[in-house]
Amino acid sequence: MFELAGDDPAAAQARAQTVLSIETKLAEGSMPRVEQRNPDNVYHKTRIADLKGLAPDFDWGTYFENINLRSSGDINVAQPNYFKALNVQLTAIPLADWKTYLRWQLLNSRAAVLSKKFVEEDFDFSGRTLTGAKELLPRWKRCVGSTDRALGEALGQVYVQKYFTPAAKARAVQMVQNLINALRDDLTTLSWMSDVTRKRATAKLEAFTRKIGYPDKWRDYATLKVDRKSYVGNAVSATQFEINRQLGKIAKPVDRTEWGMSPPTVNAYYNPSMNEIVFPAGILQPPFYDPEADDAINYGGIGAVIGHEMSHGFDDSGARFDADGNLVNWWSEDDLKSFKSRAQCVIDQFSGFEVQPGLNENGNLVVGESIGDLGGLTSAYAALKKSMEGKPRPADIDGFSPEQRFFLGWAQVWAENERPEFERLMVATNPHPVGRFRVIGPLSNMPAFAQAYQCKEGDKMVRPPEKRCQIW
Ligand SMILES: [Zn+2]
Repeated sequence: MFELAGDDPAAAQARAQTVLSIETKLAEGSMPRVEQRNPDNVYHKTRIADLKGLAPDFDWGTYFENINLRSSGDINVAQPNYFKALNVQLTAIPLADWKTYLRWQLLNSRAAVLSKKFVEEDFDFSGRTLTGAKELLPRWKRCVGSTDRALGEALGQVYVQKYFTPAAKARAVQMVQNLINALRDDLTTLSWMSDVTRKRATAKLEAFTRKIGYPDKWRDYATLKVDRKSYVGNAVSATQFEINRQLGKIAKPVDRTEWGMSPPTVNAYYNPSMNEIVFPAGILQPPFYDPEADDAINYGGIGAVIGHEMSHGFDDSGARFDADGNLVNWWSEDDLKSFKSRAQCVIDQFSGFEVQPGLNENGNLVVGESIGDLGGLTSAYAALKKSMEGKPRPADIDGFSPEQRFFLGWAQVWAENERPEFERLMVATNPHPVGRFRVIGPLSNMPAFAQAYQCKEGDKMVRPPEKRCQIW
């Protein structure tokens, strides 16, 4: 990359080593992923004046002035130890090396929007080496992706007009309601939870803000300048727009209508500090949700995804936030203990999954997402069964009963091919398990699955009763 930017090969090689050495030192001062999952570990409310004590050799005043931060309020220093480590390096590493490092940061952050040689060199490492991808995505897909990242709510308006009808929205709203009802029923009857915690859990569930499809009010991009002069110039404008938008929030009331994902995004989230569940129109499409498919397939797909996001409000991390989104413990000590021992079952199960010879899932990293899957499937299955009550039983389709199709719906969502490099990256960095264990893990815990497919104890997809995990 340095060569492409004009350095001679020997200098480029030496500079690459400098960058790697600085990255390694900064990584050593960073909090491991598993520790970052505990919200208390990344919450350190700090007075701006006290930053000097944390990293005295960093010129905070000039930095804040240059990024246009005009506030003297408190800030959250997510990782204080990182700043201590950074401070040591600030004086230990020569200034010339820092300049090399910053030059690299600029090149690396913009390589994908520079000329072809940079794009290919960037792909060679971030695509080919890290994920095992064999070829760059076609140009039109990269263009759609960058438009979505820069102008997501402008693109989103066109997207929902085309692909998310009012009828589709109404059905999705109903599905979310049915899932909330199912989880409420479950919380009311859960044997291991005390009444005090149960009441608070139910209150938290009722307080969920539900965002479905697209925002009620669209983001205004009027101040974002886009022209035909340069692609990278437009990308820089988009970053600047976003930074100003974020800085503009400081000292103003929280905007609870804001969306953290664009409408075309094929994903969903639970945001603990807002206590909200959010489902962009992009995930309310096949294979997650198919208006042409029968209920069982859809409950096993999007239904379980909705249940998954709701379950995040009560997983080992989300459970630390109350109904208003404040970081306050609302569990009784005994209930927290029971919850933790149940979570430990999931940790142990996933740590036992071998992704490749000698490479296992890290149960402590994926526990929250795996609780989400198990809880989500349990709620969605209950919601499906409830929706079938008092009606004639739906016919089998292609020889599969509704109960079987429910689990097929979930399996279809996660049926994906992953290259070995991508799997290694996932296991090391991603709190989600690889696709196949998101299916094998929860289904082998569920008696409903064994029943639907007439599996017996001792079968591969049936965990022995003493090892069977159950949260909700
Ligand atoms: Zn999740």
